[in-house]
Amino acid sequence: MRPIASGKNIVFMSKKKIVIIEDEPDILEVLSYNLKREGFEVFSANNGTLGLSLVNKELPDLVLLDLMLPGMDGIEICSTIKKNSATQNTLIVMVTAKGEESDIVLGLGVGADDYIAKPFSPKELVARVKAVLRRGVLLDSTPESDQVQVGSLTIDTGKYEVILDGKEVSLTATEFRLLRYMASNPGRVFSREQLLSRAMGDDVVVVDRNIDVHIRGIRKKMDFDPPLIETIRGVGYRLRDIT
Ligand code: CA
Repeated sequence: MRPIASGKNIVFMSKKKIVIIEDEPDILEVLSYNLKREGFEVFSANNGTLGLSLVNKELPDLVLLDLMLPGMDGIEICSTIKKNSATQNTLIVMVTAKGEESDIVLGLGVGADDYIAKPFSPKELVARVKAVLRRGVLLDSTPESDQVQVGSLTIDTGKYEVILDGKEVSLTATEFRLLRYMASNPGRVFSREQLLSRAMGDDVVVVDRNIDVHIRGIRKKMDFDPPLIETIRGVGYRLRDIT
């Protein structure tokens, strides 16, 4: 694969395709208008069944997916897209309403890449979409490296070492794996279940399966203000993107 030295620029030079699946006409219009203005190629559907066939036909780079939809709900659509080998690399951003935190957790569990909560400003939406597309490129092309760097935080898996602001931080094995996993996807939200299964893997015995305990441990040891690991209420955690 080609190096991605100039990847950040390349991402937006080719026209990226976005499919919007949203049943509220006003929101659909705002989303569509703002993304087109940013140079994206935009397709839209106002119900779940149509939306899914549009995704299969257009093979977009990213899908903006409302959760409550007629026809087929967002969670089902998300899981179908991520299970199909032709569309599994499609990035999915869920568009959620207040009070849908448990659906966000479900969505992340079936492979959604991020979410944005209503109400949002067009500026916020465009920024989120671009960030997810950028992350998608990085995830695809960064080779497994021993070292992960997020701002002043460096994690070296080979040396089993965490350095924050030039100071070494001593973590337990579980804390280390959790932090390493979140640091390879800065800015992305993970549910507790995802952190348990993906960060830990099947071959590791986690003595305490309570993620909150480990996160508290990491925060205590990493003196950073505001804390590097953010709690996303009702959903899970994310490592702030301080790069
Ligand atoms: Ca809806």
